[in-house]
Amino acid sequence: MRGTIMDYPLTLPGILEHAGRLFGPHEIVSRRPDKSIHRYTYADFYRRARLLAEALTKAGIEPGDRVATLMWNHYAHLEIYFAAPCIGAVIHTLNLRLHPDDIAYIVNHAEDRYLIVDDVLLPLYEQFRDQVDIERVVVVRLDGGDLAEGYEDYEAFLETATGDFDYPAIDEYDACGMCYTSGTTGRPKGVAYSHRAVVVHTLAVAAPDVFDISMKETLLPVVPMFHANAWGLAYVAVMTGAKIVFPGPHLDAENLLGLLADEQVTMTAGVPTVWLALLQALQKEPDRWDLVPGMRLLVGGAACPESLIREFDDLGYTVLHAWGMTEMTPVGTSGIPTPAFADLDEDTQYEIRAKQGRPLPFVDMRVINDDGEAPWDGETMGELQVRGPWIADSYHNPEEPPTSWTNDGWFHTGDVVTIDADGYVKITDRTKDLIKSGGEWISSVDLENALMGHPDVREAAVIAVAHEKWQERPLACVVIEDGKETTAEQLQEFIAERFVKWWVPDAIEFVEEIPHTSTGKFLKTALRERFKDYKLES
Ligand code: ADP
Repeated sequence: MRGTIMDYPLTLPGILEHAGRLFGPHEIVSRRPDKSIHRYTYADFYRRARLLAEALTKAGIEPGDRVATLMWNHYAHLEIYFAAPCIGAVIHTLNLRLHPDDIAYIVNHAEDRYLIVDDVLLPLYEQFRDQVDIERVVVVRLDGGDLAEGYEDYEAFLETATGDFDYPAIDEYDACGMCYTSGTTGRPKGVAYSHRAVVVHTLAVAAPDVFDISMKETLLPVVPMFHANAWGLAYVAVMTGAKIVFPGPHLDAENLLGLLADEQVTMTAGVPTVWLALLQALQKEPDRWDLVPGMRLLVGGAACPESLIREFDDLGYTVLHAWGMTEMTPVGTSGIPTPAFADLDEDTQYEIRAKQGRPLPFVDMRVINDDGEAPWDGETMGELQVRGPWIADSYHNPEEPPTSWTNDGWFHTGDVVTIDADGYVKITDRTKDLIKSGGEWISSVDLENALMGHPDVREAAVIAVAHEKWQERPLACVVIEDGKETTAEQLQEFIAERFVKWWVPDAIEFVEEIPHTSTGKFLKTALRERFKDYKLES
C-alpha cells in the first residue's frame, strides 16, 4: 500500500531546531578549569552551534569529514556535538585519558581533518602533534591565556560566520559521530554512528521506562563526552530541554558534590568508581552538601555492586543501573523498576537492581552457548548477542576481518549473561575475564561485587590464574579501606557464606590500588600481567 507518511529524515538538525525554538531560556552551566562558572542559555547555545556550523563550512569542512575534539565536558563541546553533524560532518570525540601514542593512532586511523581542543589540553596535543596530520587546530580558551602560533581561537573562528546559514540536505543514514572503544580488552576500534541511530536512540533513552528524562531534569553527566557519546545524555538533554550542568575537568568527589549541590542537580551519570568516591565523602560528612533529595545516579560502564545501591539508598539517593557498549550508541538496557517490583521483599529488590536492567525497545537480545539459544530463566549462561537500529554493523576501516557479527546479522557483545523470565539481563562477565575452573565457569564480577560489599573492602578485582589441576582458579586483588584491617581468611569466609565452595578465591592479594582503564573500569589485563606467574598453594 502506498500513500502513508512523509519521508522525513531523522537527523540532528531536527533536535537542534526544536531546542532553539522551544527551550530558549533554559540553562546550560559549565565549570571552567579555574572552577569559575560559565552560564548561558539554550538560546545562546543554539545561536553559537549554528555559527560554528557555518564557520566550519566556510573553512572547507565537507560532508563526511571528521572534526576531532579533545575536550572536557562543557558548553563548547556541546556546540560541536551539534554543529559538525548539522553540516553532514562527523564529530570524533578523542579520549584524553589515553596515552598520546594511542591518541595519535586513533586520529590517523579516523583520518581526522580538524581538531578543536581545550587550551588546558594543548600540552597533551603537543605530545602527539608530530605523529598526526591535522590541518587546523582551533582552541577553546577556557583559561583565557595567550595562544601560541599555529593555533586559532575558537571565538574568533565563530566570528567568521555571519548568521546566514541553512542546513545542507543530510541523509539519515549518513555518519554524524565517531567514537573508539576504550580498548579494555584490545586495540581501540572505531564505531561510526548514523544520524538515524542517534536520533532513534535519543528518543528511546529519554522514555519514562528507560532513563525517564524530561525538561524538568537538571542533568550532570560525569561520564565524559568522549566515552560513548556521554551515554547519549548530551543529545537527550538537548532534545528534552533539560538544564545541563557540565563539570569540566574537576571530577573528584569534593568538587562534584559542590556542583551537584550548587546547581540542585536531579540526575547524574558515571562509572561505579566515581560513585564509590562520592559515597565515601558523603558518609564522612552527610550534612555538608545540600543535595536534591532522591537525586538519581545513573551507573554504567562496569558492574555496579549491590552494596553501592544499598548505601546510596540509605543516604536518600537512587541508583539506576544500565548497560551499554560503544558499539551500541551506547545504551542497551535500563534498570527502571516494574510495577510488580514493590511487592517483592527487600533483598530480592536489591538483587534485581544490581542486575543490568531490561532491554530497550528495538534492542533484540539472544543468549547463545554450546547448546544453542539459552532460555530466559535467569540461570543459563551464554554470550549475549544483540541487534537493533542503533547497533553498529561494522567497525571503521577494520584492520582484521570483522569477527564480531554473526552470519545472520547479530552483534557478539563478548559479555556472558543470564536473562530472567522478566527480561532482566545479568552480566556475569566478559568472555575474556571469565574464570574457567575444571570446565565450569566462575563469574569474576559476582565475586568482586560480593567482596566490595564487605565493610573493610574499598575495591576488589578477581582474575584467573593458572592451576595444574583445574586449569584456572580465581585470585582476588583487594584494596582495603584506610585504617581497616582484615585477613585473607576472613574474606574467604565471607565469600564462602555467599557462594558454592569451589567459587571461593584460592588466594587474596592485598594491593595498594586496582589499575583502571581510561574510562574508569578495572584494567584486568594489567593485573593478569602482574600476577602471570602467581603460584597458588595446592
Ligand atoms: P571497552 O569495551 O573498551 O571497555 P565500552 O565502554 O564500549 O568499551 O565497554 C562496553 C563493555 O563495558 C560492555 O560490553 C560490558 O562488558 C561493560 N559494561 C558496560 N556497562 C556495564 C554494566 N552496567 N555492568 C557490567 N558491565 C558493563
